[in-house]
Amino acid sequence: MIYADNAATTQMSGAAINAMTACMRDTWGNPSSLYGLGQRAKEALEDAREQGVKKNQDAEVVISHLSANGDTFAAGGKMTLGFSEEELASLFIVSKVTLQKAEAPGMEVSVLLSDAPKCPRCWNHDEGIGTPGCHAELCGRCAKVLGV
Ligand SMILES: [Zn+2]
Repeated sequence: MIYADNAATTQMSGAAINAMTACMRDTWGNPSSLYGLGQRAKEALEDAREQGVKKNQDAEVVISHLSANGDTFAAGGKMTLGFSEEELASLFIVSKVTLQKAEAPGMEVSVLLSDAPKCPRCWNHDEGIGTPGCHAELCGRCAKVLGV
C-alpha cells in the first residue's frame, strides 16, 4: 500500500510530493478567500452542488493544466503527476478524474455530476456498468475484487 501523506507514519512518495508541489505552485486558492483564484475554486464547488453533487462518488473531476513553457501533465504531455487518472480518482474518492491540456497557462479544476450508472457496492459511478463485457450492476473494480 502506498500512502499519499504521512498520516500513517510512512515516508511521502515522490509522486505525492510532485502532485502537491504542482498544486501548491499553480492552484493554491482557498475557496473561503476573496481573491480571484480562491473565488474560482468556490464557484466550481457551488456549481457542482447546484448540479446535484452531494457525495464525492457523484463527482467527476476534470483537471486542466498548462505550464508557462507550454507543457502539460495531461495525456501526451512531458510533465507527470506520477498518478494515473484512475489512481487520482481513488485518491480523491471521486468516480472519475480526467487530465486535459488547458487553453492558457495555469491549472483549473472542474467538478461535474456523473451521469454514469452507480455501483451498489462502492457507490462510484462507472460508464462500463451494464455494457457488453462488463458486469450488469457492478463497476469493473468491484467485479474484479469479487471475482464475478
Ligand atoms: Zn464498485
